[in-house]
Parts: sequence; structure tokens; C-alpha cells
Amino acid sequence: MSIRFAVSALLGAVLLAGCSERNGETAAPEVNLYSARRYDSDLPLYERFTQETGIKINRIEGNADQLIARMKSEGANSPADLFITADAGALWRAQQAGLLQPVQSETLDARIPANLRDPDGHFYGYMRRARVVAYDSSKVRPEGIDDYAKLAGPRFKGKLCVRSSDSIYNLSLVGAIIEAEGPEKAGAWVRGIVANMARPPEGGDRDQIRAVGAGVCEISLTNSYYYIRMANGDNAGDRKVTEHVKLGFPSLTGQGAHINISGGGVAANAPNRENAVRLLEFFASAEAQRHIAANNNEFPASPDVAPPAPVDAYADFTPNPMAVSAFAARQPEAQSLMSEAGWR
Ligand code: FE
Repeated sequence: MSIRFAVSALLGAVLLAGCSERNGETAAPEVNLYSARRYDSDLPLYERFTQETGIKINRIEGNADQLIARMKSEGANSPADLFITADAGALWRAQQAGLLQPVQSETLDARIPANLRDPDGHFYGYMRRARVVAYDSSKVRPEGIDDYAKLAGPRFKGKLCVRSSDSIYNLSLVGAIIEAEGPEKAGAWVRGIVANMARPPEGGDRDQIRAVGAGVCEISLTNSYYYIRMANGDNAGDRKVTEHVKLGFPSLTGQGAHINISGGGVAANAPNRENAVRLLEFFASAEAQRHIAANNNEFPASPDVAPPAPVDAYADFTPNPMAVSAFAARQPEAQSLMSEAGWR
């Protein structure tokens, strides 16, 4: 056996076992997960992955911008293997910064619809969330909010609650409106939203829903899972709010509700690349999607994964087919439209 063959056979064995080698010692198989998804309900999933594969998950948590800054400063020596977030905009920022590498995976391509992933494989969305409307059903008819354009119209002057423009969820929604309607119409929409605000933006999405419940406003923008959690969770006050505050699904240019993703991308210098791909494939499995839908109330990304309770009761809407990478790339434009309009 030649030395070259022996070395490559050894390397092959190490790769097959999914092990990484540091300081000459072969470590147990592991994957370093940089997670901006800080949901306790994801923890059983991580345990399950380790049981199934023997690969240990080391979690580094923070908000998306913190983790992106950390990966930038770590540079080529970053231990990051997989970066996961709850918004396509954050994945796009990481991609723009050169922090993600393209991945080819038949499994991911089969499980995740093309519009929910980057065309070059830099990131994949394994859960869907709709950015829609919670409305006071005693004052607003569902037809009154069935189009995003109506939210910015004079009917809702002083009646709208929404969080600030630094929310990536809002940046992504405005990015989608720019993508669908062009910057001029989107600018007019943003100005209409600012004119309709019942109060300066404050708090998160749940605070907007509660404000509708308290009569501060008649409509609010929210991600679907916040509402579904309030309607089905342990907080009796929140459940009470959802008796008259309902969830409505507006349409963007007649093509359905704005859809964002929870997803991940493999880090540019991932030391455990194969394990990172495996973990991403695991998140995209029917089992993981069902778990996250049941526990975090997002919608499955795969059309063949039936939404479990409680999200099944809210799943009958038209999702906009826009590519998430298209609206994600519009966020710098969205940011300037929003700050021009005074959406703080
Ligand atoms: Fe959220």
C-alpha cells in the first residue's frame, strides 16, 4: 500500500465517521450550530438528532446579527458549521457577507420547495411563517383586510398597530411588496402604513395583538405563529384576546399571503461540513417539521407534511409563491423606504 493511498484511506475513514481532527486527536463526531432560533421546543429535536446519528450538537445562540458578527470576526477559523435563523432576510445577510457556502443535496431539494431556498443552495427554509393580520372581528370584516393594500388605505387611519422598522419581519414584508409592485407603489404603501399607525411602534408582534385586544387599534401585523400560540397556549388572558381578535390572511397582488422561512445555511468554513448538511437534512425531515409545527406553531415547508394541531386550523390560506431570496435581497431598499416614511 502506498503512503498516499494509506493517508487518503485514513482521511476517508475519518470523514465517513463524521469526525473532526484537532491537535492530532480524533474527536467524537460533532456539529457546531449557530442558532438564532432560541426556542426551547427545538431542544428535543437536537437530542433526537444525536440519538439517531451519534453526532453531538454544540449550540452557540444569539440573535442573527450577533451571530453574523461573530462569524465575521472568527473568519476562516470560525468553528461555525450550520447557521439557522427565523427569517430569510438574516440568511441573506449572512450569504452577502460570504459566511455561507452552497450545498447540493437531493434530500433538501426533494423536501423543500424551490421558492423556499436559495437557488444556489446557500440556505434552505424548512418551516414557513406567514406575516399576516390580527384584527378586531367586532369592528373589521375579513374582506376588509384581504389585501395588504387595504391595510394602508384611509379606512384604517389611526387604527393600525405594528412593530418597528428594525424588525427583520417587517423589512422582509416591505421587501416582498417592492418585489411584487415596484418601489413607487411600495413607498406609497409604507407611507400609508405610517399614516395609519395608532401609536408609534413599540413591542413585539404579540404586543400588537394584545393592543388590538385592548382596543388600542383595530388591526395589527403579526407573524402567524405568535397568534396561534396565544390562541392555544397557557396564558388565559391571551386566549381570551383571541376570542374576538382573529387571524386574517391578506393577499399580495392577488397571489397570497407573504411567506417567510425558518431555515439554515452551511457555514463557509464549516469544519464539520458533512454533519452540518446532515443536520439541515434532519431539520427538513417530515418528523422535524411536524415537531416544530406542533410546538412552535410554524407551518411545514414540505407540501406533503400535513400540518398537525394546532396549526392545522389556520393552514387553509393561499401562500404567496414568491421566492424568499427575492424579497430578502430587497431589504436595503425596504429599509430606506421605511426610514424615508418615518416608520421608526
Ligand atoms: Fe419571531
